[in-house]
Amino acid sequence: MFGEPMGFWARYMPVGMLLRSNWTATRIADPSHSLTLEAYQAASGNHLAAPVPLDRFIQYGLWYQRQVAPDLDQRKIACLESDPVGFRITLTDGSVMLSRRVVVAAGIGPFAWRPPEFEGLAPSLASHSSEHHDLSRFAGRRLVVIGAGQSALESAALLHEGGAEVEIIARSRRIQWLQGWTSKRLHHRLGSLTSRLLYAPTDVGPAGISQIMARPDLLRQLPRRLQGWLWKRSVRPAGARWLVSRLRHVPIRLGRSVRSVASVGEQVKIRLDDGSERTVDHVLLGTGYRVNVSKYEFLAPGLVRLIRCTNGYPCLHDGLETSVPGLHILGAPAAWSFGPLMQFVSGTQYASQSLTRYITGHDANSMHREGSS
Ligand SMILES: Cc1cc2nc3c(=O)[nH]c(=O)nc-3n(C[C@H](O)[C@H](O)[C@H](O)COP(=O)(O)OP(=O)(O)OC[C@H]3O[C@@H](n4cnc5c(N)ncnc54)[C@H](O)[C@@H]3O)c2cc1C
Repeated sequence: MFGEPMGFWARYMPVGMLLRSNWTATRIADPSHSLTLEAYQAASGNHLAAPVPLDRFIQYGLWYQRQVAPDLDQRKIACLESDPVGFRITLTDGSVMLSRRVVVAAGIGPFAWRPPEFEGLAPSLASHSSEHHDLSRFAGRRLVVIGAGQSALESAALLHEGGAEVEIIARSRRIQWLQGWTSKRLHHRLGSLTSRLLYAPTDVGPAGISQIMARPDLLRQLPRRLQGWLWKRSVRPAGARWLVSRLRHVPIRLGRSVRSVASVGEQVKIRLDDGSERTVDHVLLGTGYRVNVSKYEFLAPGLVRLIRCTNGYPCLHDGLETSVPGLHILGAPAAWSFGPLMQFVSGTQYASQSLTRYITGHDANSMHREGSS
């Protein structure tokens, strides 16, 4: 097992961020249900608030890793290619391994999406939200944040609170505010049983649809068009409701697109489709991620060509296996085949069980029961 534990969370998400997923959806799955947030609190003595702060979630993830994979090898994979044995894996230090099977769970970092109109601008003038861990460096500066999803809205709130002058610009005509189902008001209004029937603990998708999203095997049986519609309903750009008050003093310009951008000395001039212009110190692109597995630099081009894909997503079958036998891809790239649940921490339950069952022929839970009896 290779990788930097919680590396993406620690390096590419902003200090001060709160997780949008609710409490039940923030647990990393384990077959014995013993590595929960509650177990972490008890073992560490650290209290976790809801929503869970980023730094605490990172600590939870590192604690989880020490329990299940203490011998994790933190070296990077430079190249993964086909080999008569199965796969040839070259590490950045030049060492080589062979393996019959490889599971790729390499995250979304390389998929950060930058709208083409910002290409060519110096990184000091425009950057993607994932390029910043500490937004306090923008204190006292003027910024435009592009986007109306959680990354854009929360980055704008953090920038504003950190002393930057911020304006949000988004194409959408209104901001979709999410009402977490654990919120006391909604829970009280629906009653606990009704809210449990409508919302699965995985917390992906609106009332009712949430239950379908929590069951990728059921979702896969539905016609592709219906799957697409359910997907759009489930993961539209949206902000957590707790951001509303934090953005009260941040100007938000909706229903507007960027027509042109140009650097003016050490600043950037932006022209919108309503003709208005503003000159700011920096543009922060909260424009999300677009999956394209060919952007995983460690995948050799010859191997990428063998992976059957649709719109950049690998087409996976049981066990999240690609069209290349023995090569599995987990996480956000699995969403085309198993639904948007795969993009979230709460998707770890389905993904790990499905993978384990496929490879070993046994259910992860029953293996755990056998192991402990
Ligand atoms: C701003 C933001 C907020 C989010 N908030 C939430 C939330 O509240 N709840 C939620 O469920 N999800 C949230 N997400 C989504 C979250 O990022 C994913 O759920 C989660 O990170 C997916 O985990 P993963 O294991 O697939 O990828 P990652 O956590 O990114 O892990 C990838 C691993 O692969 C390793 N790796 C990559 N390339 C190599 C290589 N060449 N060699 C060796 N190792 C490699 C990395 O070191 C790392 O260990 C958020 C995402 C963003 C951007």
